[in-house]
Amino acid sequence: MEYLARRHGNLVMHKTMYNRSHQLKAAAGRMLRLIEGRPHAAGDLLVFNLHSTPERFMPKFDRWLRDLKSDYTLYSPDVFETFYGEKDNLPNPDKPGVVFTFDDGLRNNRHALEVLEQHDARGLLFVVPDFYRFPRAEQEAYYRKHIRQQPHAGLDGGDEEVQALSAEELRNWAARGHTIGAHSFSHTMRADDSDDKLEKETIGAIEAIEEDTGVRPVHFCAPFDSLFSTSERHMELLKPHIRFFHSTFPGSNSDQPNPLFIRRVNMELFWKAGAIDFACSRFEWKRWSAQREAFNQRMFLNLV
Ligand SMILES: [Zn+2]
Repeated sequence: MEYLARRHGNLVMHKTMYNRSHQLKAAAGRMLRLIEGRPHAAGDLLVFNLHSTPERFMPKFDRWLRDLKSDYTLYSPDVFETFYGEKDNLPNPDKPGVVFTFDDGLRNNRHALEVLEQHDARGLLFVVPDFYRFPRAEQEAYYRKHIRQQPHAGLDGGDEEVQALSAEELRNWAARGHTIGAHSFSHTMRADDSDDKLEKETIGAIEAIEEDTGVRPVHFCAPFDSLFSTSERHMELLKPHIRFFHSTFPGSNSDQPNPLFIRRVNMELFWKAGAIDFACSRFEWKRWSAQREAFNQRMFLNLV
């Protein structure tokens, strides 16, 4: 009883601290945007990384996209080919670009993809074959065990908040022009994976998605923090198979551009607009510079 009370107390405290830090971030984000405006220069590419996208947040997503489009050109994932290829061919080189990716392949991502379509854009879904192949009735347990133990703050959710888009749904979204990327085979990929496991989590994921959807992914993103989940052995195996590796670290993509080290800004639709501005700010880019450098060294300096 005492333990439960203490545990409950800790959870309440955790939630209060989370709310407080969220309020602070939102206030700082509003201020930073007033002072320095949006941080991206023309020709840069802002890559967002979202997870859960419940239907009730869609009006907010739509309003927020309209606001974003006053400073950025909204692109579809095919922009990566141009951005890392013939950059001069970007449709609008006078503004920075923005593109949306979604990790985990939750069923509620379909709402966000529909909103993107209304803006004539498409999204990039990073999916987990072991998750979407599980029977629907057992997917919530899988999600809680391997993907996200704690529900997102403010997301109570129905089934589509904890279940995956099926292989058939993924095929349909791909046919509508969206891109499917691999997010490891089972979302349990770790930097210290055994040789068998790391092959399964990388090439195994790519082959499973190709088998299920008919499209072989060329985009990969590792679960959790990229340093925690990815070793140079993973990258070495992936390199002949993929064209783009998406990290979990924010920053400019114009600065030392590398398609195998795409910087992404994590944001969630339930956040306050100021907190999203904070996540995009130069201040936040600087805060992650040590992790970016460590990832760069591990993957591209140590790799022979
Ligand atoms: Zn994930």
